[in-house]
Amino acid sequence: MGLTILKKKSGYALGLLLIIIGIITLLIVLWKLYNVGAFASLAAFSEKLLEKEFTVLGIGLKLIHYTLLGVVLLVVGGVILIARRERVRVAEEVSVLLECPQCKNHWQEPLSRTHLESMGYPKVRTLSRRKCPKCAKFIRPKIVTTEGGKV
Ligand SMILES: [Zn+2]
Repeated sequence: MGLTILKKKSGYALGLLLIIIGIITLLIVLWKLYNVGAFASLAAFSEKLLEKEFTVLGIGLKLIHYTLLGVVLLVVGGVILIARRERVRVAEEVSVLLECPQCKNHWQEPLSRTHLESMGYPKVRTLSRRKCPKCAKFIRPKIVTTEGGKV
């Protein structure tokens, strides 16, 4: 449990970090372009972007490469954040209203969305055999509604 949360958090941190580095990279490119007068005209802009080299930690790359790098980092970071959000959504719990076929008693129970989807809900509406909290018989409860009406 703790490990799962840690994994989620580190995934989130990694995604954010990549986005931040990507934004910083793009800002540095913009600043460099501004410094070399690339905003004077469109021709100057494309020339500086494609020709101007910029050295970081001894590695000289053209500004266009930094731009591409920044965009790639933004996209990868964004994908990580979205993927993480999707996992959280799937693990979500929904409150379902169950009905006992014997005594018609209704009660609420939390079920995971993944469980509902894997059992074939909304086509399949009966759960595995369990004890009814009212009549104490072993029954297969029927799902009457789920929180929000649908999954
Ligand atoms: Zn019952």
